[in-house]
Amino acid sequence: MKSADPNHAIEIADRVWWVGHYLPGDAFQCHVYLIEHGDQSILFDPGSMLTYEHTLKKIAEVTDLNNIRWFVCHHQDPDITSAMPRFDELVTRKDAAVISHWRGQTLIKHYGFKMPFWLVEEHDWKLDLGGRMLRFLFTPYAHFPGAFVTFDEQTGALFSSDIFGGFTDGFSLVADSIDYFEQLRPFHEHYIPSRDVLLHSLTRIEKLDLKMICPQHGSIIPEDLIHPIIDRLKTLDCGLYLLAKEDTDIHRLSRLNQMLTDITKTMTGYRDFQDVARALLDVARRFVPAHLIEFFSRSQSHDDLVLHLGPESRYKGTLVAPPLLVATTLGKDAKSWGKRHKWNFTLVGPDDAGRRHSALLIPLFSPDKGTIEALVLIHLSKRIAINSEVVEMVQQMNIPLQVAVERESIYRTLDLERQQFYERSIRDALTGLFTRFYMQDMVERLFAIHDRDKGSGISVALLDIDHFKSVNDTYGHNQGDIVLKMVSEVLVKTSRQGDLPVRLGGEEFAVFVAGRSSQEIGAFAERLREAVEALEFDEPMRGRKVTASLGVAERRQKESLIEFLGRADAALYKAKQSGRNQVCCQLVPPIKK
Ligand code: GH3
Ligand code: MG
Ligand code: MG
Repeated sequence: MKSADPNHAIEIADRVWWVGHYLPGDAFQCHVYLIEHGDQSILFDPGSMLTYEHTLKKIAEVTDLNNIRWFVCHHQDPDITSAMPRFDELVTRKDAAVISHWRGQTLIKHYGFKMPFWLVEEHDWKLDLGGRMLRFLFTPYAHFPGAFVTFDEQTGALFSSDIFGGFTDGFSLVADSIDYFEQLRPFHEHYIPSRDVLLHSLTRIEKLDLKMICPQHGSIIPEDLIHPIIDRLKTLDCGLYLLAKEDTDIHRLSRLNQMLTDITKTMTGYRDFQDVARALLDVARRFVPAHLIEFFSRSQSHDDLVLHLGPESRYKGTLVAPPLLVATTLGKDAKSWGKRHKWNFTLVGPDDAGRRHSALLIPLFSPDKGTIEALVLIHLSKRIAINSEVVEMVQQMNIPLQVAVERESIYRTLDLERQQFYERSIRDALTGLFTRFYMQDMVERLFAIHDRDKGSGISVALLDIDHFKSVNDTYGHNQGDIVLKMVSEVLVKTSRQGDLPVRLGGEEFAVFVAGRSSQEIGAFAERLREAVEALEFDEPMRGRKVTASLGVAERRQKESLIEFLGRADAALYKAKQSGRNQVCCQLVPPIKK
């Protein structure tokens, strides 16, 4: 059948003949089919004025024209019905009829022929040819409200006019692989108004015991391809013509539609923004030479910083100082954007973003405020001219992008805040030292080790700034803060890694030290004292000295934190009592017998 000569009638199943005509260079090949059934023969979609002479010749190869009693018009388009007046003139038998649906009749009757109509809905949607039963299935809006298909129970052939049709480059009577779906795709996306409409028909058709599908356009679908093709059709987004504004190129619209589907899938299907970004980049690449995509969003918590989602951070979101281009774009309102830009995006030059190549900048407006809350930069590896396809791509990307970026920036902001809270509970806000809260946690762990292993001694040096109140009183609280920060730096610098410098509160500090001898801890405390005394201040404290008193204690095994700190505090008290600016030690008291 595949290699059959299209200049002659081709038998495609038992007594089922293809009697169409090959139209050179036409993507709409129109097929006509004939069931030869004696004087009850039946012709499907009789054809157009361009083809009917060829069809007549092929019918004659199979049977006498007057053996055809039935002329099925699955819908009313001229490419399948305009030859009817000619058949009306040539057919002499009185009982010949046009099989149609009342909606088809209302249009086809305007050709003005005399042959009567036989309406499927008035005959229980079936026709008994005498030993051969044909069933009609209503497939409304695929693509005409009165469209239907015919199923021949004997051969399992479905004659389907538009549904299952395709655009083919040339004449190809039988589809030879699932690749035929790509010919079907634009046809259905374009001619069928919605997926629901298509599903309605497909779910009824797939229940039939199908052996082949004979559409009016495209190629015959053989049995092995029927269900794979139906499965794919079920997921197709139809209604492509809705995208057609000035452009009606079906293949281009089909590409756009595919993009729309991919974008929607991306936004709803992926949870990880990194995947969203990657998928979007893939979509963008079909239209422009894109090599990198990044996002900037206003930060809720920081006025001077923006949230950046880019490949460097694997789209995890970091707070950064905005590049100039970003800083000058975020916050603008839709009106002022509209005044300066023709489209809802713009091309930015290589210098604007500080990158080598130009980029597409897509602003994302907040729906309620109408201001630019975020923007997308699609970096291009070479310059492009903007055409309607790029405009359409950005237009289609816009809303889903807005949703995805907004969602992500909320997640990221929450994440950053959580991290900051965590840091804050560990770190003292003024000095950056560990807090008492965190210290307790950490010290308990050190104690547990010490309790098991006597050798892993642990000591503490408490430090209290001398007469700190007078610093505040003389120079003000801010200056007091500066002193606290500088003393904290001394603690950090003098400590080793593994030591635990803590701000206990006010002007009291502690450094917990693990694994040093009592002499070493005394020497360490003395170095702290010297370093504080050596601090030099700027105005207004130039020349003024700050000193600190220190109390040192070495922990006994099993000793509680309160007891341990209590002994260190007693040593500190002694240091204060003895004239300040000195270190006093409370070493391990001998274990009482
Ligand atoms: P002493 O030598 O006996 O330790 O005298 P002192 O003045 O250092 O001790 P006191 O405990 O009387 O005063 C501590 C002062 O530290 C009182 C408080 O206002 C001040 N202070 C506590 N926290 C801060 C802070 O965060 N910043 C500033 N600037 N001052 C603080
Ligand atoms: Mg003090
Ligand atoms: Mg104090």
